[in-house]
Amino acid sequence: MTEPMATQCCIAGGGPAGLMLGVLLARAGVRVRVLEKHKDFLRDFRGDTIHPSTMEVMAELGWLEEFLALPHEKVAELQAIFAGQRFRVADLSKLPVAAPFIAMMPQWDFLNFLARKGDCYSGFHVDMQTEAVDLVMENGTVRGLVVESPSGRQSIMADLVVAADGRGSVLRQKAGMQVEDEGAPMDVLWFRLAMEPGDPESSIGRIEPGHIFIKLNRGDYWQCAYVFAKGRIEAVRAAGLEAFRDKVSWLADIPLARAFAITSWEDVKLLNVKVDRLATWQRPGLLCIGDAAHAMSPIGGVGVNLAVQDAVATANLLWRPLKEGRLTDADLAAVERRRAWPTRMTQSMQLTIQKRMIAPSLAATDQAIKAPLPIRLMQRFPVLRRLPARLIGMGFRPEHVAKPIAAGDGSMAGRP
Ligand SMILES: Cc1cc2nc3c(=O)[nH]c(=O)nc-3n(C[C@H](O)[C@H](O)[C@H](O)COP(=O)(O)OP(=O)(O)OC[C@H]3O[C@@H](n4cnc5c(N)ncnc54)[C@H](O)[C@@H]3O)c2cc1C
Repeated sequence: MTEPMATQCCIAGGGPAGLMLGVLLARAGVRVRVLEKHKDFLRDFRGDTIHPSTMEVMAELGWLEEFLALPHEKVAELQAIFAGQRFRVADLSKLPVAAPFIAMMPQWDFLNFLARKGDCYSGFHVDMQTEAVDLVMENGTVRGLVVESPSGRQSIMADLVVAADGRGSVLRQKAGMQVEDEGAPMDVLWFRLAMEPGDPESSIGRIEPGHIFIKLNRGDYWQCAYVFAKGRIEAVRAAGLEAFRDKVSWLADIPLARAFAITSWEDVKLLNVKVDRLATWQRPGLLCIGDAAHAMSPIGGVGVNLAVQDAVATANLLWRPLKEGRLTDADLAAVERRRAWPTRMTQSMQLTIQKRMIAPSLAATDQAIKAPLPIRLMQRFPVLRRLPARLIGMGFRPEHVAKPIAAGDGSMAGRP
């Protein structure tokens, strides 16, 4: 093992939560190392909906214009089809924010953007191909991480370790943290279909007996999600690719020939849907944020945005104690207090939708699925569409970047 390294904050995981936190702390003058086990940010399809809450953060940091110069699609309205009838369910265009729409952008573009921003600060380091494999413990306190990289095994000592290593978090497991599993009635298959001239432009969700299908406009292709009852993946695969293509052609309302873009099961990625959260997000010296603290249901596409909100709250509450070397357990508990409530509220909204709409739709056989009453009311009273827009777009407790971080306080290292 090579000599231990030391930093003020060591973050395991270069996803939305870890990178955003790293950049904000570095901007505040804290020395940070973000560890990412992969060699780049390119992965299979991941969460790629950037919501108004995240873009408000970008605006507060003065990055929004540059961010929106990256290729993206704007989605200002969400629609759903029940029994062949189209319903408008969320209108984001009236939100009083800098960017009143969802920006559909591949997650790697977002992560590369954050990493580039971080590079502006001398205290910011991303170690790629570096995997956190264990905690360094001392008298019950986390003092650092054991990491593996192409140059070998090493310890990184830190005043604070942040586990932002996603929903399969190794660190939360090593710390023996208790996970509360809320369950989910569905899993999702994700795949792409080419977009063709004449296709309607709007992203859409379609609810039919036994199936739910989502089609997101990604500019030159459709990102599609086929939602089916949990545990039935083997049955879906056993029915064969031809049966799957038939279903896709019907649900996506496209000629069967276009579904032949799915050439094998390799083109279709399984998302094992989970909804869980930690009973406690922190231990002395360790804090979990993002999916490592709470895996979200895909309903509303809020995972990335909640991870970013956790990062903003963490930076706001911890930058000063970290910088001044006086971080306490109470500071970590304050982050949990701030973010546990919006997490629980978002999850309980998702669980209600799972229970009232998704599970019955997936269990239905031949009866046409009727739109739930609140959705029917939204057609008559368009103003009601602003509520789901607010909850999806901004969340329950939107975070704002603390003024000294947003503005830079003069003592901060690097350029703004
Ligand atoms: C198929 C799919 C579709 C999704 N769709 C959406 C969507 O449309 N909208 C949305 O908002 N959310 C969506 N999500 C969820 C969203 O991607 C997550 O909620 C979000 O990325 C969480 O961010 P995070 O930073 O907490 O964790 P992650 O994004 O999981 O990032 C964790 C990072 O840590 C790295 N890592 C893991 N373990 C270690 C280790 N031991 N050492 C070092 N690095 C490690 C991983 O490689 C990864 O880069 C989707 C997820 C999936 C899988």
